[in-house]
Amino acid sequence: MKVGILGGGQLARMIALAGYPLGIRFIFLDPSLSACATTLGDHLHGDYHNETLLAELAKRADVVTYEFENVPANVADFLAAHTSVYPAPNALAIAQDRLVEKNFLNDIGIPTAPYKPVESLASLQQAMQQIGYPAILKTRTQGYDGKGQSVLRSAADLHSSWQKLDGLPAIVEGFVNFTREVSIVAVRSVSGELAFYPLSENVHREGILRVSESCDNDPLQSKAQDYVTTLLNELHYVGVIALELFEVNGELVANEFAPRVHNSGHWTIEGAETSQFENHLRAILDLPLGSTAAVGRTAMVNFIGGKPENEQVLAIENTHLHLYGKAPRKGRKVAHATIRTATQEALHPLKKKLIDLANEADNS
Ligand code: AMP
Repeated sequence: MKVGILGGGQLARMIALAGYPLGIRFIFLDPSLSACATTLGDHLHGDYHNETLLAELAKRADVVTYEFENVPANVADFLAAHTSVYPAPNALAIAQDRLVEKNFLNDIGIPTAPYKPVESLASLQQAMQQIGYPAILKTRTQGYDGKGQSVLRSAADLHSSWQKLDGLPAIVEGFVNFTREVSIVAVRSVSGELAFYPLSENVHREGILRVSESCDNDPLQSKAQDYVTTLLNELHYVGVIALELFEVNGELVANEFAPRVHNSGHWTIEGAETSQFENHLRAILDLPLGSTAAVGRTAMVNFIGGKPENEQVLAIENTHLHLYGKAPRKGRKVAHATIRTATQEALHPLKKKLIDLANEADNS
């Protein structure tokens, strides 16, 4: 069985690592010669729009998936016309435009912060009369890890924030005064089998995920499961999905969803019976899904911009290090580490040590 993956970064790499024990092999399409997954399979080296390469990918793979949501719609459609593509292109089309995504979430009954589309400085000024301060201005497309975003604290911020967008279509949304950020990673197979991981509690800084921790019997688990079930079913979705949520006054408000394996689910490699990566493969190959039950208490810390020495990380008990094989660069995720313990009390001091190492190594 061969799985084709659009993209050859760390998510593709972790999917491949999960697939090898199941006898699955991989072919990656990625424009970078040094894409970090490509040592684990065949590499079609070239542009995502190259139809010769896309046709080859479709021919050589039994099923195609992807590791990022900004796959151009015509590329996803081209592939879908030639082979099975999971998740289907409709999920991509929705997730890659924040306006379409927020309209969709609200239409299917999943609440979000108030938002308005913005096409000009005048429309931003008008929208702010309804949204109120503080607010966040975000590009509708191509934004991830906090890129293309600015916080609006007063009318004095409008002009410069609008200029920064460089004419790109945008939305402005109300700033959510959340108690915490959580995400639910869930999976649906070709046959419609569903499974849900325990909620992840997430900490972001400068719009980038820094730390995730698995929750145990969280009071909001069932509400999050209801929302993500609706999302999976409405999209006729196949594969792993992540729904990112804010907790406000004990309720959940959606931020966005990612139609792929997700950074807030990396802890499942050591912290769940079956990782999100293996379950993504099981789902798209229509195999029975594996148990999503947690094994102990787990935290994951990202290394961004740079990483500590391996010895420093491995000296912390119960730690597992995942190096992505990527050169350090400002704001770039280069590795992560996971700690698993029997109890939360045991977990927190070790997690703190890892966070301190990550902060020291961050060259951003
Ligand atoms: P995003 O690119 O939309 O995933 O946003 C990245 C991070 O910015 C989120 O995880 C939050 O920490 C923060 N953020 C985004 N939107 C809002 C919002 N409307 N209110 C408060 N914080 C937000």
